[in-house]
Amino acid sequence: MSEPKPKLAMYWAASCGGCEIALANIHEALLEVDRHFDFMFCPCLLDTKRADIEALADKAIFLTLFNGALRTTENREMAELLRQKSQVFVAFGACAATGGIPALANHHGIGAVLDASFLSAPSVDNPERIVPGHRTVVPEGELELPRFLARVLAVSEAVAVDYSIPGCPPEPEQIVAVVRHVASGKALPPAGSQLGCTERAVCDGCSREKKGLLTGRLVRPFETLPEAGWCLVEQGFACVGSSTRGGCGALCPAANMPCTGCYGPLDRTADPGAAALAAVVAAVDPGGGNGREEAALHAHVREALAGVADPVGTFYRYALAASVVADRESEGRS
Ligand code: SF4
Ligand code: SF4
Ligand code: SF4
Repeated sequence: MSEPKPKLAMYWAASCGGCEIALANIHEALLEVDRHFDFMFCPCLLDTKRADIEALADKAIFLTLFNGALRTTENREMAELLRQKSQVFVAFGACAATGGIPALANHHGIGAVLDASFLSAPSVDNPERIVPGHRTVVPEGELELPRFLARVLAVSEAVAVDYSIPGCPPEPEQIVAVVRHVASGKALPPAGSQLGCTERAVCDGCSREKKGLLTGRLVRPFETLPEAGWCLVEQGFACVGSSTRGGCGALCPAANMPCTGCYGPLDRTADPGAAALAAVVAAVDPGGGNGREEAALHAHVREALAGVADPVGTFYRYALAASVVADRESEGRS
C-alpha cells in the first residue's frame, strides 16, 4: 500500500475568493498538487467541516495556505485551529500577509462599516433598516453570528506564520514554484521568509523608462491614457512600484495601470504607506526643488498631490494593518 500523501489545507477568512481563483489558475499544475498532496480542506471547493479539522491530531496537516485577513472572531478561531493542526502555516495573499483591502476598514469605526454596508451605500435596499447583530431571535430559535474584532488583523498578528506568499492574489507561476519546492522535499527556506516574490522592487522588472519630472497634478487611471514606454509616476499616476516587492513581472504598468502595491512593501520598509507616499513625492520633487523657490515648490507638491482622491486607499491599500501610523482602533460591537 502506498504511503499516505501529506495533507494540504486552504482556508479563506475575510477574503474575496480571488486567492482560491489564483490556485485554480495554475491549471494543469493542479494535477501535480493532487499527485503530491491530499488536498483535504478548502471550504470553497470541498465539504470538509470544521469538526473534521478539530478531530485531527496536532500537526496532522502538512501545509496550510491561509488567505484573507482576520475580521471576525470566527476568522481568528480558524487561524488558531489551523495553526495548531499544521506543520507549515503560510499567509497566502495580501489580505493574510498585511491585512489587504479588508484592513482599510481600520480607518473607520465598526459602526461606520456597518452603516455603509447595510444602510447608506447607494446600492443598499434595506427599507426596514436591519443591521445584523451578534444574536438574533427568530421563530425557529436563536441565531448567532461571529463578532467583529476591534480591528482587522493580518494573520501574523494572531498566530505564528512560517511563510508569506504576497500578491492580490499571488501570481499562479509563483504558486506553482512554491508548491513544487515544498513537494520536492528540499529544505524549506528560513522561517519568516517571503515566498513567490523577489527582493527587488517592481520597478526592476518594469520596461517603462524614467526620464524626467512630473509636471502637473497626479491623475487617476480613468482620467487619461498614459504614453507607452514612459514611467507612470512621471506621467502623473500614483504608481508605487518603487516601494513594492517584485515578483509579478510588473503586470499592472505593462497594462497601463499603476502598481497599487499588492506584493507588499520591500523588507527594508518600516511603514508601507509612508514609503509609497515618499516614492511618489520623490518623483514630484526629486530634491533640490528643481530650481523652484520654497513657496513655489510647496505649491507644486500640493498641486500634484491634490489629484490623489483617497490617500489612505492609494498609499496603504494592502497594508493598513501593518502600518505604524495610519491605523485606528474601532469601537466594539455587541
Ligand atoms: S489577497 Fe486579493 S485575491 Fe486574495 S483574498 Fe485578498 S483581496 Fe482577494
Ligand atoms: S514607478 Fe511604476 S511605471 Fe515607473 S518604473 Fe516603477 S513600476 Fe514602472
Ligand atoms: S504591478 Fe503592483 S499591483 Fe500589479 S500585480 Fe504587481 S505588485 Fe501587484
